[in-house]
Amino acid sequence: MREKFLGAAVAAILLFFATEIGRAQEKEKPPAKKIAIRAGRLIDGKSDTPISNALILVQGDRIVSVTAGGAAPAGMEVIDLSTATILPGLVDAHTHLLLNGDITSEDYDVQLLKQSIPYRAILSARNARIALDHGFTTMRDLETEGAMYADVDIKNAIANGEVPGPRMQVATRAMTPTGMYPLLGYSWELQVPKGVQYVDGVDGARKAVREQVMYGADWIKYYSDRRYHFEEDGVLHSMVNFTDDEAKAIVEETHRLGKKAAAHAIGSDGIAAALRAGVDSVEHGDGLTDSLIEEMVRKGVYWVPTITVGAYVAPGRGGNWTRMVDLEKAAFQKALKKNVKIALGTDAGGFDWKELNQAKEFGYYVDYGMTPMQAIRAGTVVPAELLGWSDKMGTIEAGKWADMAAVSGDPLKDITELERVKFVMKAGAVFKNELR
Ligand SMILES: [Zn+2]
Repeated sequence: MREKFLGAAVAAILLFFATEIGRAQEKEKPPAKKIAIRAGRLIDGKSDTPISNALILVQGDRIVSVTAGGAAPAGMEVIDLSTATILPGLVDAHTHLLLNGDITSEDYDVQLLKQSIPYRAILSARNARIALDHGFTTMRDLETEGAMYADVDIKNAIANGEVPGPRMQVATRAMTPTGMYPLLGYSWELQVPKGVQYVDGVDGARKAVREQVMYGADWIKYYSDRRYHFEEDGVLHSMVNFTDDEAKAIVEETHRLGKKAAAHAIGSDGIAAALRAGVDSVEHGDGLTDSLIEEMVRKGVYWVPTITVGAYVAPGRGGNWTRMVDLEKAAFQKALKKNVKIALGTDAGGFDWKELNQAKEFGYYVDYGMTPMQAIRAGTVVPAELLGWSDKMGTIEAGKWADMAAVSGDPLKDITELERVKFVMKAGAVFKNELR
């Protein structure tokens, strides 16, 4: 009895000291670091013309002020980027950190069958570092391709400062009905991993959404279609995966839980079904027709075209895939004219992170008819809106996260400059500076 009492007393004393030490550390926390950044040219994401010789003041993880000219306050650390162009940190709204290229189904199957989820998670940390190094300070990762909820772990590890990487919103496992996504074609005697969560029926759909949200999904992603084929009308058609009732249940439950829904939809039938279900974003969208484009504008649905991956896998896949690249170019031009909200997304992971810089997507948008400024907005301001983070990021202005990238040339003259990012700051911390 006495020993127990002594034990409790010692514990209380220890707790007292621990609390005091904790308090002292809190008191001694240094004030947030102040940095002045001199930008030769600043593309702030708001105005149509760059600001020359801008001064950006940063304190802690936030931007305090942005002025044209002006001197840095005395005693402040100054980062001189007076020969460079600064722009908001880049955003990729469609990635797969847990995947490393899948031109063929063999590429895909090997990763799910021969690599453990921990091994894939380690590679995802490497991929996150590559993305940040390329200037991407935010990404929406749209499913783990069989790696369960490992995207939540990489997201948390980055947020906790354990590994470098972009800010993340994640979709966890994605959904199709039973049998409509690989791994397929193995003996029925084998239990092989699946690239998605199989979900059937309205009740099943609601339960799956609740489950994924419970484990940390910010987005719910489902596959609206598969089997893309051209018919005599010249339109790209597809087989729709879910019944309308199931798809509506997924989207409705997602919204009820305060999350957003993204649909993979390539053929016109899949896009139409996704729009009927009420999704927030259409992914890929090669088969967009005039009327579907108009419906997207009417409903305010975002389009994430992922042109880089289409162009990259087409030669290896053959068949309809080459024709789909041309089709998507035409759709892009129509959508641009009709003011569809286009958010830059690449499907990085669908191509090897080590092989291609995801910033290549900007070049396609300019080739397809956007001005360089429009392309930059598609990869900064617009996806910030899609993610619901407009008040925190997407532009360089007072009060927002100090997330920025810089290049030595002028991306308004040569958009491929964005494939050569030389300076990256995320949350006020310099991750990379090759402009010293
Ligand atoms: Zn994808």
